[in-house]
Amino acid sequence: MSSYTLRADTAAFIDQPHQLLIGDQRPEASNQQRIDVLNPATGKLLTSVAAASKDDVNAAVACARRTFENSAWSRMKPADRELLLWRFADLVEKNADMLAELECMDNGKSLGIARAVDIQLGINFMRYMAGWATKIEGNSVDVSMPFMPDGQFHGYTRREPLGVVGAIVAWNFPLLLAIWKIAPALATGCTIVLKPAEDTPLTALKLAELALEAGYPPGVLNVVTGLGQDAGAALSAHPDIDKLTFTGSTPVGKMIGKAAMDSMTRVTLELGGKSPTIVLPDADLASAAQGAANAIFFNQGQVCCAGSRLYVHRKHFDNVVADISGIAGSIRLGNGMDPSVQMGPLVSAKQQQRVFGYIEQGRESGASIAAGGTMSGPGFFVSPTVIADVDHRSPLVQEEIFGPVLVAMPFDDIDEVVRMANDSPYGLGASIWSNDLSAVHRMIPRIKSGSVWVNCHTALDPALPFGGYKQSGLGREMGAEVIHHYTEVKSVLMQI
Ligand code: NAD
Repeated sequence: MSSYTLRADTAAFIDQPHQLLIGDQRPEASNQQRIDVLNPATGKLLTSVAAASKDDVNAAVACARRTFENSAWSRMKPADRELLLWRFADLVEKNADMLAELECMDNGKSLGIARAVDIQLGINFMRYMAGWATKIEGNSVDVSMPFMPDGQFHGYTRREPLGVVGAIVAWNFPLLLAIWKIAPALATGCTIVLKPAEDTPLTALKLAELALEAGYPPGVLNVVTGLGQDAGAALSAHPDIDKLTFTGSTPVGKMIGKAAMDSMTRVTLELGGKSPTIVLPDADLASAAQGAANAIFFNQGQVCCAGSRLYVHRKHFDNVVADISGIAGSIRLGNGMDPSVQMGPLVSAKQQQRVFGYIEQGRESGASIAAGGTMSGPGFFVSPTVIADVDHRSPLVQEEIFGPVLVAMPFDDIDEVVRMANDSPYGLGASIWSNDLSAVHRMIPRIKSGSVWVNCHTALDPALPFGGYKQSGLGREMGAEVIHHYTEVKSVLMQI
């Protein structure tokens, strides 16, 4: 690795004791437990964080409840919430280089991606949501009240903040996923208890520090680092949470949804995916091949809407697969802190074993490995892999691998590729590569997914809602849609 000197503020932050943040207190976990945090590029210990118990989660929820019901925050005007969120975004921007280094060392992603994608999209989204604080509206409704013909009425609706939000996030974009939940909660006037993933807790802790520095009253944003089965389960079953928002795997999302139903807690779930990349016969093949490679290899394939299934018209299949395999073979793997590195390690040894297990399954079932197919260390590396000759019912095609593994299949006509694209329990994203606008427009309504991209993939904008059809989730993040998921509507009818 070419030499890279860690910023002094990043090194100092890593050396901090990393307790919980509840109000303005930083307690150790009540049972004194801690979780080791490893650097995925080396497999070595980076630091450790407190592992919250159920009692700690209860304390954080109680603090968020008090702050929501009766504090300067609960009385704050929308314009002041807007200003505060702008100030918070400015502080994230000021600390962007340090946050990017933390993300790189904690998650393994390359420093350039962390800075340009994770941190920058987070800042953009915070500023987009800040604007919403002053635009939350109800309607004036002209009622008829047929059984009270002589009465006169004024009917209207209000949108009110939901209350205490429990947010649980995955490790693939640790800061960005947290911001997708925190920013709408702050714009609408909710309070939050955030549980980051145990593998990647550091940027959430720094973010909470910055919230206090921005001027948020203590208790608005609380962070409980901890294990899913302990802190996560306690948060998702807590009866005094008004809304649960979860980003993670579909199996855990189902458990969280069931736990939420016991107390009718509002719930939104952003879950897994197995998104198709579809190359129609007329596509610009060079840009489709590069686009399909980016769609799967970006962030080591650890992207919920990664283009992990590739469908290419049979007449171009061999050429496009050869091009993508060439791109895969040219990607430089290494420590993400090295600016010349294009792909870092997977997040953990567990994830490395899981992804490699799928590759082995493919090999054993007779599929052909057109590129990659290896793992290496130290660190948790898997080479960018392209697999062809797979059965559509095989786990490689049906299950989310969540690593740099592409399965490629040919098709003969549009009906067939639509059927194959929809033959999945998931429905998060899909991309179509073509310049035939009529064919594309006819396909879009037939694809069962929350996002469809044309001649691009995983292209997200704060103004466009993002979420899943089928088992990819419930509800949407971003765009105007997200306001409805953090507010409750109240109908008011007044006899005048
Ligand atoms: P995961 O479901 O194992 O963990 C996600 C979070 O849930 C972590 O914070 C974990 O501690 C917590 N958790 C685990 N068990 C829990 C339990 N019993 N109760 C409560 N919380 C629990 O998922 P992961 O492996 O960390 O993340 C990868 C998954 O996330 C993939 O399936 C990916 O597609 C999905 N994801 C989806 C989106 C989206 O927007 N749709 C975005 C990013 C990641």
